[in-house]
Amino acid sequence: MSIRVAVIGAAGRMGSEVCRAVEAAEDLELAGGFDVGDELGDLGGAHVAVDFTVPDATLDNVLHCVGRGIDVVVGTTGWDDDRLATVRGVLDANPGTGALIAPNFALGAVLTMKFAAEAARFYESVEIVELHHPDKVDAPSGTAVRTAELVAASRREAGVAPAPDATASGLAGARGAEVDGVPVHAVRLRGLVAHEEVLLGSVGETLTIRHDSFDRVSFMPGVLIGVREVGRHPGLTVGLEHYLDL
Ligand code: NAP
Repeated sequence: MSIRVAVIGAAGRMGSEVCRAVEAAEDLELAGGFDVGDELGDLGGAHVAVDFTVPDATLDNVLHCVGRGIDVVVGTTGWDDDRLATVRGVLDANPGTGALIAPNFALGAVLTMKFAAEAARFYESVEIVELHHPDKVDAPSGTAVRTAELVAASRREAGVAPAPDATASGLAGARGAEVDGVPVHAVRLRGLVAHEEVLLGSVGETLTIRHDSFDRVSFMPGVLIGVREVGRHPGLTVGLEHYLDL
């Protein structure tokens, strides 16, 4: 039996890409596309809803789905602890229903975080460079911040000393922003899309882990994994990595 999938935010850049990906997948069926002003109702009889809307709308959409026992896969940003707690509360009242909220559906970005966290305890130094198109309004990227946090946690757990840095004077910003003790540098350059490098170094050796996303289509394999897996993961899951058996 195919999985019936509704897309909320279907007219948007990501939502329209998700509609195309669902229609192209043999095991999935598009139950309907919903956008601003549409009545969500039973979401066209969907088993799973995918939300790529706006931070102001996504919580209500998720509560609507979960309240009706419809599993939901969310890529929209703007989640904080309070909002996640609200979703957990509604999920508790609807056991068996699953919600996946994933800040980044690009498999390469998820793997970069995993590989970087693994590697970080073996190296003296680690720095992160994220590179994006110049229309991006926030810096550093949420993915780079999360990568830095995971790297820092891994180094803390392993008891790694702070990275050496003899800088005694310099221009403001020259050493990047410090996230949990990890320098994060943001480059904004016309022509780029979304890229991240984790630079690791010890005496006589460096390791660079780099991910390049060239197109929105790069998020689709991750979104489709979410759609196929969310029914097997009741409750709230934050982060696609939890579905990947890494
Ligand atoms: P977008 O092109 O602006 O699309 C959002 C769509 O949702 C628009 O069509 C918008 O309509 C619609 N919408 C707004 N409120 C709605 C509501 N209450 N019900 C239904 N639809 C509603 O944005 P995008 O680039 O697709 O990005 C969408 C979200 O995904 C953003 O938060 C973005 O940061 C996030 N994102 C996440 C990932 C990831 O991997 N997790 C990747 C890329 C993007 P109007 O234009 O009429 O308001």
